[in-house]
Amino acid sequence: MGQQSQQQQLHWEGETPALPVGYCESCEEHMFPIRDFCPSCFSEDLSTRTVTEGRLETYSSIHIPKEGFPKPYTIGFVRITDDDIRLFSYITDPTDECEVGQTVYVQAESFGEYEETWAFGQEETNV
Ligand SMILES: [Zn+2]
Repeated sequence: MGQQSQQQQLHWEGETPALPVGYCESCEEHMFPIRDFCPSCFSEDLSTRTVTEGRLETYSSIHIPKEGFPKPYTIGFVRITDDDIRLFSYITDPTDECEVGQTVYVQAESFGEYEETWAFGQEETNV
């Protein structure tokens, strides 16, 4: 999954950036990105839920960034649902301020060639 598809997935709940997540009404599994049918049970009985926060499970620092990214920047895996969806994401906080297990919130970020995409960070964006 490239940055291009990330950009399409940012969703606003009023002032709060969020990520739309698919939910299967049949087997109760979440999926991200949203699909036309459930990858676990092939049901088409899906609904959409939105996620605004997750838990940082692991993170690392990138010292040789792509053009337009801050240097160094932080990347990490964020678990967004209890049934185990983990997203590989840009983390807006410096690595030395991150902690495994902390709550991180969906952020709307612009960097590099991407105008508005999602990331996660400690700053709570609910208004
Ligand atoms: Zn299912």
